[in-house]
Amino acid sequence: MLDTITIHYSEIALKRGKRSFFEHMLMQNIKKSLNGLPYNDIRRNLGRILVQIDNENIEIYRNVISKVFGVKWFAFAKSVKPRDFDLLIDTVIDELHKLQPFNTFKIDTTRADKSFPYTSMEVNKKLGSAISNKFKNKVSMENPEIIVYIEILNDQFLIYTRKYEGPGGLPVGTSGKVLHLFSGGIDSPVAAWLLMKRGALVDYIHFYAAHDANEARQSKVGELIKFLTYFSYKSRAFYVPFHIFHLVAASQLDPKLETVIFRRFMVRIAERLAKMYGYQAISTGESLAQVASQTMQNMISIAHGIQFQILRPLLTYDKEEIINLAKRIGTYEISLKECKDACSLISSHPKTNVTPEEILDAEQRINIDKLIEKTLNETTIIEYKLSQGRIEERQIVYQEQHYSS
Ligand code: ATP
Ligand code: MG
Repeated sequence: MLDTITIHYSEIALKRGKRSFFEHMLMQNIKKSLNGLPYNDIRRNLGRILVQIDNENIEIYRNVISKVFGVKWFAFAKSVKPRDFDLLIDTVIDELHKLQPFNTFKIDTTRADKSFPYTSMEVNKKLGSAISNKFKNKVSMENPEIIVYIEILNDQFLIYTRKYEGPGGLPVGTSGKVLHLFSGGIDSPVAAWLLMKRGALVDYIHFYAAHDANEARQSKVGELIKFLTYFSYKSRAFYVPFHIFHLVAASQLDPKLETVIFRRFMVRIAERLAKMYGYQAISTGESLAQVASQTMQNMISIAHGIQFQILRPLLTYDKEEIINLAKRIGTYEISLKECKDACSLISSHPKTNVTPEEILDAEQRINIDKLIEKTLNETTIIEYKLSQGRIEERQIVYQEQHYSS
């Protein structure tokens, strides 16, 4: 039985001064990803993290560990203890017996414990000839059907034949905390993923046109947030109604300004929540000139006077690049699902060069501050948490949520 997960990391190893901090965070995050799943032990060992399991169902572990940022790759291994070379040969032969029939193979050894008397090459040769003697299989260096990986650690050998890719990047929680404007389209989930990949903790704010917050939660928006929470183990989402703004804006605003004022409205609500809940920045899935509301001038005007940095990880991405990434991450199919979308209720031909003065003037006309207060009062907060390989959700109420109207 495969009893050990060997988890390898990359970039964090380069962060010299902060190496142990990053390793510590990675370890904590792996523990969070395993929350509620059975495992016996987790520890660092010569630049990898080892998790001991005695569960046949590796799929459930694979699903969560493949989403831990900072992990470069991992494998489910059989450990050989004590570190006895004859025992290693016997165990490799046993394991390969289960994988028959195959014709060619090779051994790929990593000697992490340099004090081990045989070099990696010597181990490859000794094991290779033991296997060739036992079975009819031949060694092929170029194109083997099976690669048997051996890790030599100071207290054990590890044997595995398959490596799984991790998402790379930095452990979530090492780069601050952002509040992300989340639409459920193709772009904003990808932007959230990229921020997490660089270590940011991401929470979500979504403006719904749905009947109520529950309907929004059960739509693709909630589904996407749950999917993305596998990468951060925990998240919070603010579900904010769009109708209070829409009722007033539809009757009182120039349709050409409506989209930009709505985007500005979203940012201003995010700004309020960011102040209240201690986020360091706001983020979006905007991409320069993707649509009329995302021209340089409009983005600058929308951000006018906002007290938080607005991070836009997709600023320079083409739509095609974003789609490819969405497919790779696994959000694309969900984003394509139908959903009542706030933006689609708004005039589709916005002005491309709205000035800050035009925005301030329009905001005054519709008494934006009052709309913000009223809207915040109707905000629903949901917390998502990874447990036993699944995402649980629960509604939370904070005192600060009771605004005066
Ligand atoms: P797509 O472009 O694939 O429809 P998108 O998420 O980029 O998806 P846009 O209409 O381009 O949607 O909006 C640009 C950005 O504005 C989004 O990435 C998101 O950050 C923010 N946004 C748009 N609509 C909403 C919404 N209903 N709630 C919260 N943020 C939104
Ligand atoms: Mg977009």
